[in-house]
Amino acid sequence: MHQTKTDIEATPMTFASLGLSAPILKTITQLKYTQPTPIQLESIPAILKGRDVMAAAQTGTGKTASFTLPILDLLAQGSRVRGNRVRALILVPTRELAAQVAKSVARYGEHLPLRSAVVFGGVKINPQMMKLCKGIDILVATPGRLLDLHQQNAVRFTQLEILVLDEADRMLDMGFSDELKKILALLPLKRQNLMFSATFSDEIRALAKTMVHDPVEICVNPANSTAKTVEHWLYPVDKKRKNALLEKLIKDNDWQQVLVFCKTKQAANRLVRFFEQQAIKSSAIHGDKSQGARTRALREFKNNEIQVLVATDLAARGLDIPQLPQVVNYNLPHVAQDYIHRIGRTGRAGVSGQAVSLVCADEFDELAEVERVIQQLITRKIMKGFEPAQVLPESRLDTRPIKPKKPKKPKKPKLLAQ
Ligand code: AMP
Repeated sequence: MHQTKTDIEATPMTFASLGLSAPILKTITQLKYTQPTPIQLESIPAILKGRDVMAAAQTGTGKTASFTLPILDLLAQGSRVRGNRVRALILVPTRELAAQVAKSVARYGEHLPLRSAVVFGGVKINPQMMKLCKGIDILVATPGRLLDLHQQNAVRFTQLEILVLDEADRMLDMGFSDELKKILALLPLKRQNLMFSATFSDEIRALAKTMVHDPVEICVNPANSTAKTVEHWLYPVDKKRKNALLEKLIKDNDWQQVLVFCKTKQAANRLVRFFEQQAIKSSAIHGDKSQGARTRALREFKNNEIQVLVATDLAARGLDIPQLPQVVNYNLPHVAQDYIHRIGRTGRAGVSGQAVSLVCADEFDELAEVERVIQQLITRKIMKGFEPAQVLPESRLDTRPIKPKKPKKPKKPKLLAQ
């Protein structure tokens, strides 16, 4: 029997106390996860009970395991999957996130006789069709490629039991609402629905209404807060001296694994060329890079073959780089909310990290906006020899409430019309 919430509060927080089965507990022990993260604590029992879940959680909170572990457990108890059928579908916005979630699913399900697979666009469709022939218990997919596969009769949803929508907010930001609507219309009405999103705007709530029923609502990150384990500060610096300052920081501190955020693809490419000249191994990851190049860059970064990964916000969204020690904002983001996503790449699941921003006088407005969103002034440090000639004005905290973004008009009726 699964424990109630009161029982959990009264007993030590262990994975076993959440009601997970022995094969899953074995994997958790091998992974050296000693205790569930807050989101896992709440979502695992709810999902095991068959409830719908709507969770506000960012990458780095342990959210992938929070849905994957109980799904594996539920599927292990059910009937066998038939050819070209799928029993659980995990929809994600990007190819990188798809590959990453699929890897977690395979790892967490290592001791269970379940089949999982991943499908996304930008690569050949035929091998994916072959994989689906035998039937797949857990399929991780991006929306466009899933619809292509469905159109070609490679996948059918008659056996679908569970739907997960991961990073729902980014899914809508990337314009996938039509695809989502089409996919939802193909699925059996009786199913368990799990929805994860870093933010819960009106638009996301409208989507949730069409998808989840009487959900258990979970919020582990108070909206717009930064992870407690991240230490973040900024260096005021002239624009033309940013490269040299970054090189100094990397060399002086012997940073071995640094994720650097740039505002544009061009800036990311320029920075990689600069690092090449300094004999610092780096790669860029952004929308103009082929799927192969992006996957390779991420793999090399994770394996410590390259020291610096330079990314744009869209490309970096949802990347899982375990225990990343260093994040650098070479530019502050256009969208202040992205500051939270960016520094969320470090200090993950209780491991502390550092996020450093290099801010020039031109970026004062962006800085003020970020400070308003996080409701704190970012500590300023001066690097000797890099004192800016163009002064970055002192900021004052703007405490006026931030109005929630109105859902975009054309999208709303479509979402509600499901
Ligand atoms: P996620 O939020 O799903 O991207 O997970 C962030 C990272 O936390 C991943 O590298 C996981 O392997 C790790 N992780 C997930 N759950 C736990 C846990 N209970 N204890 C320690 N690490 C965890």
